Amino acid sequence: MAFEQLPKKDWYSILGADPSADVSDLKQKYQKLILMYHPDKQSTDVPAGTVEECIQKFIEVDQAWKILGNEETKKEYDLQRHEDELRNLGPVDAQVYLEEMSWNEDDHSFFLSCRCGGKYSVSKDEAEEVNLISCDTCSLIIELLHYG
Ligand SMILES: [Zn+2]
Repeated sequence: MAFEQLPKKDWYSILGADPSADVSDLKQKYQKLILMYHPDKQSTDVPAGTVEECIQKFIEVDQAWKILGNEETKKEYDLQRHEDELRNLGPVDAQVYLEEMSWNEDDHSFFLSCRCGGKYSVSKDEAEEVNLISCDTCSLIIELLHYG
């Protein structure tokens, strides 16, 4: 995906939004900011540095909306964000292949017991995309390896 080449930024905070905000809320914030920072809206007598800053902001806000306003890229960004958060929690406890996990027919998910007695689980739908899984009880995480 193209946006992976972009520097890592917190697109939610650029829009001044909470990660739990819904798309219409994000859109509102985007529209407000894009108007505020739009180069055409700047008065000509502001110092040059400020104009630069506004343009920079304008570009950032625009990028943020390109990512968060699109269902696909937002999902990918949220996932990446979630994994960054998990990585910050602590080291990966183990690396496993999906094949090493057990299948739960009841809720169509793969699971693995954690040494704390808790459980790592990932739904069948998410298994393809997810790289890190957190234990439902303790703070341990495992890395899910994908073949190929
Ligand atoms: Zn655990």
